[in-house]
Parts: sequence; structure tokens; C-alpha cells
Amino acid sequence: MSSVALTSPNILSQPIQFLKGIGERRADVLKKFGVQTVHDLFFYVPRRYLDRTSIVTIEQLRQTYFRSPDQTMNEAADVQKDFTVVGDVRSFRVMGMGKKSRFVLILGDDTGTMQCIWFGGVQYWKTKFQIGETLAVSGQPSAFGGVLQFVHPSVDRIAERNAEIEVQEETPQVDWTKTLNTGGLVPLYPSSKELERVGLDSGGFRRVIGNAIQKLLPRVDESLPPYLLSRQKIIALRDALQRVHFPKGMDELGESLRRLKYDEFFYFQIKLALRRNGIKTEMNGISFKVQSKLARQLVDSLSFKLTQAQIRVIKDITEDMSSSKPMNRLLQGDVGSGKTIVALTSMLIAVENGYQAVFMAPTEILAEQHSKTLASLLKGIDVNVRLLVGAQRTKLRRDILDDVQRGSAQIVVGTHALFEKGVEFANLGYVVIDEQHRFGVLQRQSLQKKGANPDVLVMTATPIPRTLSLTLYGDLDVSIINELPKDRKPIKTVLRYEEEKASVFTFVRDEINKGRQAYFVYPLVEESEKLDLKAATVHYEQLQSAVFPDLKLGLLHGRLSSEEKDEVMQRFKNKEIHILVATTVIEVGIDVPNASIMVIENAERFGLSQLHQLRGRVGRGSEQSFCILLSKKWIAAKANRLSADPVKMHEAIDEQRLAERRLATMVQTNDGFKIAEVDLQLRGPGDFFGTRQSGLPEFRVADILTDTVLLDEARRDAFELVEKDPHLKLPEHHVVAEHLRSLHRDAFALMKIA
Ligand code: ADP
Ligand code: MG
Repeated sequence: MSSVALTSPNILSQPIQFLKGIGERRADVLKKFGVQTVHDLFFYVPRRYLDRTSIVTIEQLRQTYFRSPDQTMNEAADVQKDFTVVGDVRSFRVMGMGKKSRFVLILGDDTGTMQCIWFGGVQYWKTKFQIGETLAVSGQPSAFGGVLQFVHPSVDRIAERNAEIEVQEETPQVDWTKTLNTGGLVPLYPSSKELERVGLDSGGFRRVIGNAIQKLLPRVDESLPPYLLSRQKIIALRDALQRVHFPKGMDELGESLRRLKYDEFFYFQIKLALRRNGIKTEMNGISFKVQSKLARQLVDSLSFKLTQAQIRVIKDITEDMSSSKPMNRLLQGDVGSGKTIVALTSMLIAVENGYQAVFMAPTEILAEQHSKTLASLLKGIDVNVRLLVGAQRTKLRRDILDDVQRGSAQIVVGTHALFEKGVEFANLGYVVIDEQHRFGVLQRQSLQKKGANPDVLVMTATPIPRTLSLTLYGDLDVSIINELPKDRKPIKTVLRYEEEKASVFTFVRDEINKGRQAYFVYPLVEESEKLDLKAATVHYEQLQSAVFPDLKLGLLHGRLSSEEKDEVMQRFKNKEIHILVATTVIEVGIDVPNASIMVIENAERFGLSQLHQLRGRVGRGSEQSFCILLSKKWIAAKANRLSADPVKMHEAIDEQRLAERRLATMVQTNDGFKIAEVDLQLRGPGDFFGTRQSGLPEFRVADILTDTVLLDEARRDAFELVEKDPHLKLPEHHVVAEHLRSLHRDAFALMKIA
């Protein structure tokens, strides 16, 4: 079987242009949606299915509903079943005014008419429909004043193609209009305005994909070895594709989708496994001698004992360092778990071996902060730490670059600018990346090239949910600091409204009288840094003159020069300042254990992980710490103000719900992993990592948030396969090699590193 596969090109890798019904125009638009090959098209799966068995005429629906409204509608089985009516839009209009306005659409078929109603979002719905177009409307029926209605039904446009359809050379063999009327499930494909313009509405996709499936399915090669099919109890690729696009019943959909999801995950993980295997077995790294005299000196100088978790992680790292294979390790640990000490300890081992170590931070402010932290931890230990950032004067910069090149700079702290051209290292052997989601797999690869395969430790300050770390960092070994230093008390977090501010101030004053210090943080709103600054300055002056005239306040914001920032921070550290008023510049890296109160103003404006980071600035000493989230009762006010524009009002309400979830999550838990999970749910993976450039893979069928079990299994299978057969030489793995060769060229190269 495999010999056939090796000689004939895999049909899945063919470009879609040769398909019936796909001309240049469509191909161009589809490309924008990531559909270029037959594989892409076949994995373009329906968004949902219209269940033919639930389709009724309006008359049938009326009889079902009115025969015995109470009984019928209260019966669980019936209530849970949605009915679908296929009809055309007869008319629509907005009724009522202001808050009470609603959108009413009259749907009709051969047997009668009924209403569809939406409360709110009127402006939006108004633009959505056209008189005469055909809709499939699903929901549970109800009635008002004897009129049959669907309230907030789900709607699918199933109109036949619009005027701009490309000419088809042949009538498709599948008549979907018939399918719709005769039985089974009708797939509804995701579409968009742009796709619709070239005739690729849901119906258009049905035709194109239907055609391709009919013609090409017999030529689709199985992509997985038989032993995996039986281990995972998954069906053949051909069957899965057939059933996902031509479903006969809901019951076979689950296993078909599962098969396609597994396929996506498996090939993603195979690539990671090959990469990791390539690094581990084919590349030679540095084999450090772990004498750790300097590291011991450091640990002995600390005023605290390392936690068990820190010790365990240091052991993981030093084992990797002493091996001749390059280390690629991810260190996860919540804010305040003490990652810095761990990183520094391992950097000292590199230094002791005569190598340079680099500590890379995501921003310049952080790099400055880190270089200070490292320098103060190394007080009395003879190691040269240098900071390299863009803001330095030419002369100083030249001086530093020189130090780096000669090797007298033993630890170099900076941002990704460290890896630009012009920065030459004498002997780079160890790289620590404090990354906070900001660098993807590719960036990591490029920086490794600066040294002779230096060992790399990636630290994540905001914990990444496990599912994501498996996809993003699947090629790394992982160590977790799952324990906070012993003397820490969990931070108490409360939500207070602006109206309760006076009592918050009293509370803060009481704590300060007990010897503590506090932060007041104001949000930075991107649109206008100037205005923000003004807000922080105004608040600072107000707090100083009207609220705490007898206390010392300091102001910290991004516009200050680094000397000014230093000075304020130093005074805060020395307890010359009671309250530090700040913008989010203090989000990371600041470490004043006596500061035990964090007041966050307009907390509803912050993202979850940002709130968690800010909260992490307190709870660093042995005193009980508090985080007070101040929020306006902004919702009601805003909603009222926007009531004339229902769309905006609804957006505001959605925004509020999200903000409430965020604030509630903060109050409920201190666990960074839980917070990250919620954050991910609220924002979605793309947004979670800032932008798409994050290197986060996108799956068409699978969902990394919900298909976690399958992801785990695919990962285990893929890694086991590569471990057993790293060059995919065994006959049963020919299908995998072949699939990689035709669909994942990049990975195929990895495989041949041997
Ligand atoms: P992270 O980078 O993981 O957020 P840090 O490394 O900045 O955390 O450590 C937070 C604070 O805890 C620092 O003041 C650090 O000196 C202190 N710290 C680190 N390890 C311990 C420990 N084992 N016991 C007590 N304090 C510790
Ligand atoms: Mg840190």
C-alpha cells in the first residue's frame, strides 16, 4: 500500500484551482481564508447542521404548539427540541421605542406566517435581512396574544446563490435543494461577505465541496498508521470526510469530527516531536561542569531558604546543563514564586564555566529592573552584570558592546535587541528568556543562533494554561514552581465601588499606621498617554492634598527618566514614601516586600492577567496583603446614556459582563493558572497572546480550548512514535512520512536532519 502512496502525488496536497467550480476569483478569496489545497478545503467543515427531522411547516408548528401549550411546552423532551421552519422573509420592522424597542420579522411559507422577535440589537438586525430571502429559523416556539413566534431564534440564510455566481461547467450531481426537502442533515458552512460575493455562501460551499468529495474521495490516502486508528478507535480519513460533509445522521458526526481533530493535533505534535528530537539527538550543545561555587555563595547570602519547588527546578536545570545536548526548558511559575533566583543560580553555573549568560526581558523597563535585581542579589559576588538597552547614549553603548564582545560582561541583561546584528558575544553559553507570552517558537530559534547552541531557559511569569503550553511549547521540557515561599499569606482581594471609597481610604490609613505601604494604580488607556498621565497626576495631587495630607506620596509613570524612576522607587523602598501612585509601569518587576496594599482604580478597565500581575506586587512579605479593586457602577450609567443606540448599548452590556467576570475571578482566586484559563476563555487564544504573530497554531476543526483530552492523546501518540522511530523508517510509518512529505514540507526537513 505504501508503495502506491509513494509514487502517486497525494491528492490532498493539490491546489484547489483544478477543482470544478473554483476559478481564479474564488481561489484568490479562499486563499485569504487559508484554503489553498484540497486538504484545506476538505478540512473546511460545517459550522453546524440543519436537522431535517426538525423541519416543520408553520402550520405544523402552530398545531404542535397550540394543541396543548402548557403540556407540550413543559415536557422536557419537547422543550429541548428545537424546531426549524424554512420560509421566506415577508416583512420586518422595528416596534416600540428606546429600551423597549424590538425587531419583528414576519416569516412565511406555503402554510402560513409567523413572527420572529429580537429584543434589543435592533439596529443590527435591521441591516441583516432582505425581503424575499429564504431563511432556516430554529428555536422553541412560543406565542404572544395568539400569534405564533420564535423569540431570539438562530437564523441561517439558505438562499440559493446570488447573482454573482461563477458559471459552472456542469450541473452538480448533488442537488442540495432536494436534500433539504428529502431528509438528513444539511451542512451549513461558515461564510462571510467576501466569500458570498464570489458565490461561496453556505450553499456555494456545499456544491464545491460536494463535487470535490464525490470526485476525489477515492483518491484520498489514509494519513495515519492502522495501529493508531485501532488504538484511538478512530475511523478512516475517507469515511470521516464523507460523513462530515454528507452526514446521514447526527450520531455519526461525533466520531467523524473526532477523527479530523485528531489528525490536526497529531500532525502538529509530530512536528514538535521531530523538532525536539532533532535538537536532542542531532545537535551538540555545551556540557557544563556543575561545581556551583558561585551559586552556593548566592544561596548562602539569601535571607530566606529556597522552597522545595525551587530546589527541584534547579536540579532539573543543572541536569540539563551538564548534558551535552542543548537544553530547551520552560520554567512556569506564578507571580512571586521566585523564578529570578532560580534563573540567576543557573546563570552563575554558566559563568563559572567561562561562558556568558544572557537574561532577556520583554520590555526595557523590565530589563532595567531585572539588571538592578540581579546586581543587588550578587552584591559581594564577583560577577560583572551589564545592561544593554536602546535608550543608552552612544558612548556608553559602545562601551557595553565592547565588554560583551571581549567577554568581560559575564551576565548581559536586555531585550530582544540583544539578538540584533551588531551585538557580538565572546562566548555565549546560556540564555534566559523572561518571556510573558511575547516570543513565539520562531523567535526562540533565531536567538539560539547567536551562540554555539547555548542552553535556553524560557520563563513565563503569567502562567499559560496547560493546553496552550502543550501546543506552544510542546518541543520544550517543562519545570513548574508550584509552591509559593512559606511565609506568604494569600492576598485578600475585594471589590469595592467608587461610592465606598471613603472607607477604602480609612482602611489604607489604618494599615499605613501599622507600618505598611500601599500602591494606588491607575489604568493606562492606550488612546492617550498624555491624558492618562494627567489623570494619574491629578489623582496624585488630590490624594496628597485632600485625603492623605499628613502622609508622603510619590508618583511613578512611564514619562519619567530612568533616574527619576529610580529615585522614586528607592525612596519607596526606604520607606520614605507611604503611598506610591502609579500608572501600570509597576505592573512587573517591582519588589517591595513591605508594601502590602494594592488599590487598583477603574479596575474594570484592566485585563485579567494584568490585574493578576499588578496584584503580584503585594504579598511579597510576611504581612497579610490586600488587593482592593475599585470599580464604578459604570454599567447602569453607561447603558442609560447609550439607550438611544441599542447596538452600542448591547456592546456596553457585553463589555460589562466580561468586566464582571474578570473582577469576580480576581476576588475568587489567587491561582494564576485558574486566572489564565478564565482569561483564555474570555478572550480566545488569538487575543490571549496579543496578536496572531504569536506563532500560535490555528486549527480548523479542533479547538485547543475544549478538545484537550484528544490533544493529550495525539501528543502522546506522536511523541511515542518519534521516539521509537525518529526517521520514520518503519513500514507502518510510511504513511506518516508520506503525509509529511506532501503536506508539511517544513517538518519533512526536520526529519531528515540525520
Ligand atoms: P517571580 O519572578 O517568580 O514573580 P521573584 O523571583 O521576583 O518572583 O520573587 C519574588 C520575591 O520573593 C522576591 O522578593 C524574592 O527575593 C523572594 N523570594 C524568592 N524565593 C523566595 C523564598 N524561597 N523564600 C522567600 N522569599 C523568596
Ligand atoms: Mg520576576
